[in-house]
Amino acid sequence: MVRRIEHIAIAVKDAEASARLFETLFGVSRGQMETLPDERVKVAFFELGGSRLELVEGIGADNPMGKFIQKRGEGLHHICLEVEDLPETLRLLHAAGFPLIDSVPKPGSRGTKVAFLHPRGCNGVLIELVEQPSRA
Ligand code: ZN
Repeated sequence: MVRRIEHIAIAVKDAEASARLFETLFGVSRGQMETLPDERVKVAFFELGGSRLELVEGIGADNPMGKFIQKRGEGLHHICLEVEDLPETLRLLHAAGFPLIDSVPKPGSRGTKVAFLHPRGCNGVLIELVEQPSRA
C-alpha cells in the first residue's frame, strides 16, 4: 500500500551546482548532502511540503548514475513511493508480474530500506519503494 510520493530524484552532473540552482528556484535551502558509498552517489535533498526532491550525482569511475547521464542526459531519474511493509509489497508486486530490480530490500539513505522496480514494467519510469525506519 503506497502512502505518498516520498521523493523525486533528478540525475545531475554536479550536485553542489544543482543544489544552488534549485535553492534559487524553490526559495528554500537544501537539506544535508549525503554520500552513499555503496550506491556510489552523492545526494542533496530539498524538503518541500510533505515530499522531497533529491539531486543525485554519481561518484567514482564508471558509476551507474554517470552512465545514465551519458546515455540520457541530466533529468528525471526515478520516483520514490513510500510503502508500509517493503518485503510484503515486493512479494505482492512480483506476484502481480512487475519486474523487480531488487527482490530484497537494501539499505537506503537515513536508515531507510529501499528496492527498485524495473522501468520496463512501469511505462519507462524507474520506481523506488522505500520503507521508513521503524519508530519503535
Ligand atoms: Zn531515491
